[in-house]
Amino acid sequence: MAIDLVLRRDWSARAPHGDYTQLESTKGVKVHYTGGRVDPGIVSDHDGCVALVRSIQAHHLDGNGWVDIGYSFVACPHKRVFEGRGLHRLPAANGPGLNAGHYAVLALVGSSGLVEPPDGVLHAIVDAVEYARELGHAGKEIKGHRDGYATECPGDSLYSWVRRGAPRPDGPTPPPETPSFPGRLLSYPPVTRGEDVRTWQRQMSRRGWELAVDGAYGSQSRDVCRGFQRRQGVVDDGIVGPVTWRLAWAAPST
Ligand SMILES: [Zn+2]
Ligand SMILES: [Zn+2]
Repeated sequence: MAIDLVLRRDWSARAPHGDYTQLESTKGVKVHYTGGRVDPGIVSDHDGCVALVRSIQAHHLDGNGWVDIGYSFVACPHKRVFEGRGLHRLPAANGPGLNAGHYAVLALVGSSGLVEPPDGVLHAIVDAVEYARELGHAGKEIKGHRDGYATECPGDSLYSWVRRGAPRPDGPTPPPETPSFPGRLLSYPPVTRGEDVRTWQRQMSRRGWELAVDGAYGSQSRDVCRGFQRRQGVVDDGIVGPVTWRLAWAAPST
């Protein structure tokens, strides 16, 4: 099971407006789309995914008066899975009386604009489903919002994929998109702290380097940086600048 989770703090989720209803298990997962227009520009801009998820949460909190975003997870084109309410919490998106039956996974596609789900979205949905089965006591069902509820959701394209059993797309998994360079050097000493440090540490950890993903760039991060730089054949100054940053995502894994 490989899942690339975007934790709530990573997308600057607002705090819930109350307590969640706990959920022991579900029959499975229901798949959703946004129902509105999704800007196709998000396919090449993960920051656009983050902004969209934040706006959906704001709509559910302030417009619908829900305790939180209605979805358990959100799947984006970059094969990443946003943590919504998460596991073992009752979602709100399936419709009255239908929430306890299934976790709710939103795909970032819409009824106009980005309509056809990119492969990364489909992979991310399957990642979320496997994660919910493994850790959230979700059963085998994969359904669409329109199953048992009068709605177009999740759109014809996603729904036909769901009906085919939600297979993973053929072909290689797309490489992760490089996040934009934070615009400052990550170095030690003194310790550099921030979400940009955490982003880099998480990527290095994904590449197999052993380091704490704690948002603090200290001696351990510097040593990992040096080792990586040597392996990449660039100056091993132990400082994450634009080149070292880009290589962390773009360089082939060995
Ligand atoms: Zn829906
Ligand atoms: Zn994304």
